[in-house]
Amino acid sequence: MLFAYAYGSIQAQQTTKPPSTKPVDPNKMTPGMTEIWDPEVKIVQPGAKDSDAPSDAIVLFNGIDIDSEWEDSRENPSKWIVQDGALICVKGSGVIKTKRKFSNFQLHIEWRTPSEVTGESQRRGNSGVFLQELYEVQVLDSYNNRTYRHGQAGSLYKQYAPLVNVSRKPGEWQAYDIIYTAPTFNNDTTTYFTPPRVTVLHNGVLIQNNVSLRGPTEYIGIPEYFIKKHGPASLVLQDHGNPVAYRNIWIREL
Ligand code: MG
Repeated sequence: MLFAYAYGSIQAQQTTKPPSTKPVDPNKMTPGMTEIWDPEVKIVQPGAKDSDAPSDAIVLFNGIDIDSEWEDSRENPSKWIVQDGALICVKGSGVIKTKRKFSNFQLHIEWRTPSEVTGESQRRGNSGVFLQELYEVQVLDSYNNRTYRHGQAGSLYKQYAPLVNVSRKPGEWQAYDIIYTAPTFNNDTTTYFTPPRVTVLHNGVLIQNNVSLRGPTEYIGIPEYFIKKHGPASLVLQDHGNPVAYRNIWIREL
C-alpha cells in the first residue's frame, strides 16, 4: 500500500523544518496538507522598468556620484569621470572598485563602448566587470570585431565564451544582468569545494548559464594554478585604456 508523508500542522510549518514523517494514506490527503503559508515571502518593490533598481538593491552608481561607493585600487578617490550621467574610464587611471564587499549577488550594470571605433580584437572598447575582484565578465566592442571566442563581450575571460553574440553597435548602451555564487574552499585553501558560479544575461539574452569557473581570471596561465581562499570582495571595473562608460549600476545581495 502506498503512503505519502503529510506536512502535519500547516500553519506551524516553516520551510526550514523537515516535514512530519507521519504516514498518511494518499487517498485521504487534502490540498491544504501540502500548502505552506509561513513565513510570508518578503515583499520587494520593483522598479518602474525591469532595468531600474528594486527596493532591496544597493545603488552603486546613480549617474552623479562616484566617491560614495567607488575608489581606486589604493583606496584613493577614483580618477574616472562622470559625464552626462555616465561613469567613464580614464586611460591610465587604473581600475575602480567598490568600497563595499560582496559574496553572492545579482548585479545589473549598463555599459557603452566608444562610438568612434579604433583598434581591433582586444584593443577595441575593452573593459571588464570583475566579480569578487578575481573573475572577469568581459566588456568589449564585439560588434563586427573578431577576437578569441572566450575573450569577446560576455565571456568569462579565457574560460567560457558567451552562448551567443548579442552585442549592440558601438556607442549604444548595453546591459549585463549577472547572478553570482561565491566559491567555497577545501581545507588546503588552494582548491574549491564548490567553484564560483556565474549566470549572465546580455541585453536580456542568456549568454552564460550557471557556469562553474576553473579559477581566477588569468591573462597568462592556467586558472587552477591561481586559486587562493578568499572571502567577500569588491566589484572591480577594469581600465584597459579605452573610454568605456557605465551607468545604472545596482546590486542585490543574495
Ligand atoms: Mg577586459
